[in-house]
Amino acid sequence: MSKHHSCAIPGCNHMIPASRLMCRDHWFEVPGPLRHAINSTWKNGEIGAYRRNVEEAVRVVSGTEPAAEPEAEDAAD
Ligand SMILES: [Zn+2]
Repeated sequence: MSKHHSCAIPGCNHMIPASRLMCRDHWFEVPGPLRHAINSTWKNGEIGAYRRNVEEAVRVVSGTEPAAEPEAEDAAD
């Protein structure tokens, strides 16, 4: 029953219950709407959307701006 894993944020070694995504500190750095989206996609079993939200949250919290992702935004030409 006591399944633990480490926080979803790379480099964070906090061990947290498997039912949680990140440690408390990092979770509260995720913007509110995104936290909400993660919770609701999880609850609704929308795993694809959930994963994308999680990736986004990890990116935001770890401070890695998506500069190296050509498809992230429309080209403003
Ligand atoms: Zn953490």
